[in-house]
Amino acid sequence: MTSDVDLLVVGAGPIGLAAAIEARMLGLTVAVVEQRDTPIDKACGEGLMPGALPALARLGVSVEGRPLRGIGYRSAATRVDHRFVAGNGLGVRRTSLQAALTARAVSLGVDFVQAKVVSLRQDSDAVVVADIAARYLLGADGLHSTVRSLAGLEARLPTDRRFGLRRHFAVEPWSDLVEVHWTPVAEAYVTPVSDGIVGVAILGKRGLGYSEALAAIPAIASRVAGADAVSTLRGAGPFRQRTSARRAGRVLLVGDASGYVDAITGEGIRVGLAQAHAAIECVAADAPERYEREWSRRTRDFRMLTVGLVALAGSPLRSAIVPTAAALPGVFGAIVERLAR
Ligand SMILES: Cc1cc2nc3c(=O)[nH]c(=O)nc-3n(C[C@H](O)[C@H](O)[C@H](O)COP(=O)(O)OP(=O)(O)OC[C@H]3O[C@@H](n4cnc5c(N)ncnc54)[C@H](O)[C@@H]3O)c2cc1C
Repeated sequence: MTSDVDLLVVGAGPIGLAAAIEARMLGLTVAVVEQRDTPIDKACGEGLMPGALPALARLGVSVEGRPLRGIGYRSAATRVDHRFVAGNGLGVRRTSLQAALTARAVSLGVDFVQAKVVSLRQDSDAVVVADIAARYLLGADGLHSTVRSLAGLEARLPTDRRFGLRRHFAVEPWSDLVEVHWTPVAEAYVTPVSDGIVGVAILGKRGLGYSEALAAIPAIASRVAGADAVSTLRGAGPFRQRTSARRAGRVLLVGDASGYVDAITGEGIRVGLAQAHAAIECVAADAPERYEREWSRRTRDFRMLTVGLVALAGSPLRSAIVPTAAALPGVFGAIVERLAR
């Protein structure tokens, strides 16, 4: 088979677009296949951790948002704050982030094709989806990746599943931290995303009602009471997605498609950008076999700490998480810093 492009990316979410930009910056020819119209919205806490910002700057992407200066854990009786040591994060609407990445990709000459990928075939020279043949294909099509399943890379899901819901409110941000409010059944993430708008994402088990969960957290409910909801309620999940491997022949998985643990540490985009960087390095070097090891290396901290926190959150020790973080602020800060870089 001969190829139309060097790289085909399925999915124009932040990670697929970052990979497309990175590949064009190295001189590869790139097309992106996406089923939805830009700007694409998605359920997300919308907090970019500090490590994501240099990664976006390196790609030549700048996006407006609200500086995030740290993470605050809250329970009904306790609170603890950690302010980032080296640089801020950024609260940013998904639509703004996706539009900024798209504009940069277009300016670099990335081709866009609107289509839903439903089939894939590959031989030793090329991969074909949506009638386009490419030397390599990146599956960046999110939590419920079609590419992952077409490439035979899906692994069995655990039965204990968690989901997320989010909505935005027209209210002036009251903090420059991402506040994480822990209740007995849910975690609520408050992220300032622009002047006059905060997003509230609620994570928990299936069946969690957004309004009920919000009403159970007076510290948030009192702030947004009477404020207009300025986005529709969006959900995503189950979070946990497993993969048997991250590569099959000329197909590589990046972002949520490559396997996801949970949004509890607010890390998806920073980690996905690191995966995209690794995948493009391997593709550009014509060494896709290196990707598996790079993926493991660059996601290790995220996987270990997130699996640990989710396990703790689902255990009888849940109610001790915020008091323990408050009692051991140095440990809490070290964990936040480890995840944020
Ligand atoms: C409630 C919640 C809160 C979160 N909070 C944070 C946070 O605060 N900070 C953070 O960094 N991360 C957070 N995350 C995680 C973050 O949202 C994801 O890690 C990130 O969106 C992954 O990006 P992606 O590009 O891999 O996938 P996506 O953003 O899901 O993009 C995938 C794209 O692929 C397209 N697609 C899918 N199937 C096909 C197909 N068959 N054909 C063509 N196109 C297709 C979709 O339309 C979509 O545009 C949160 C997630 C949730 C659910």
